[in-house]
Amino acid sequence: MIGAIEAGGTKFVCGIGNETGDILERVTIPTTTPEETLKQVVEFFDGKKIERLGVGSFGPIDLDPESRGYGSITSTPKPHWSHFNLIGELKKHFPIPITFDTDVNAAALGESVWGAAKGLDSCLYITVGTGIGVGALTEGKLVHGLTHPEMGHIMVRRHPDDTYAGGCPYHGDCLEGVASGPAIEARWGKKAIELVDNNQVWKMEAYYLAQAIANYILILSPKKVILGGGVMNQMHLFPLIREQVTTILAGYVHHKQILEEMDTYIVPPGLGNNAGLVGALGLVL
Ligand code: ADP
Ligand code: ZN
Repeated sequence: MIGAIEAGGTKFVCGIGNETGDILERVTIPTTTPEETLKQVVEFFDGKKIERLGVGSFGPIDLDPESRGYGSITSTPKPHWSHFNLIGELKKHFPIPITFDTDVNAAALGESVWGAAKGLDSCLYITVGTGIGVGALTEGKLVHGLTHPEMGHIMVRRHPDDTYAGGCPYHGDCLEGVASGPAIEARWGKKAIELVDNNQVWKMEAYYLAQAIANYILILSPKKVILGGGVMNQMHLFPLIREQVTTILAGYVHHKQILEEMDTYIVPPGLGNNAGLVGALGLVL
């Protein structure tokens, strides 16, 4: 039995799975304070005889095994969670091997094993939700460096009609600052879900996401680009994004997948809402 946790800023999804990626049991716990949330997480796994645990977490997180803060959430603006040592706390209750990575790296891995990038040794997983996060698998490995990539916070060219200053507490109008769910809401004064019929909203959203994706393609040359998260429930964004990525790249990247097969290149998650949890399971395997 393998335990898996998708630790999100809104909710923790915990599951028990097996080596073929099947989730046999799962539970969703709201993310409130670390004490409250972890208590319920521990209760769920108690007595389930898990031998290993995979954790994909919202970040930024400390992934350096040499660091004293290994396993913690670092500089999150989320109240109560800054510098909370998630893995340290879990280890106290479950003295078993625990594999830890970002939620989006876990999702990228899950998608490459069981989802939209199945069989590929390279893909990107982008979530567009409360924040924007990107996980990358390249040459069969999840990308890490000093810490982990933070591709949601890259700079983008501003849309000429955009008067919104941007909402990232660190960078103002970085990608997350102008294109996350809360940025859409702040710019247009309504929740994204209530703006479905306003074409201007989605053209501007696609304008920003397409720039980021074109940059990621130029830097990492991923074999598949997967877009998930709450905002991407607006499926009509996909054709808008594909069109703008094609325009930005302007035929420069010479590969059939980009020149002719954009419809199967920039795609929704094959695992749907399960990408994060199944990916956390995959981290262990
Ligand atoms: P989180 O990022 O907190 O894990 P989500 O991926 O669901 O959670 O992202 C939440 C954000 O996505 C909110 O800003 C919300 O407005 C937006 N969102 C959720 N559902 C939809 C939808 N169907 N259409 C457009 N935006 C949505
Ligand atoms: Zn930022």
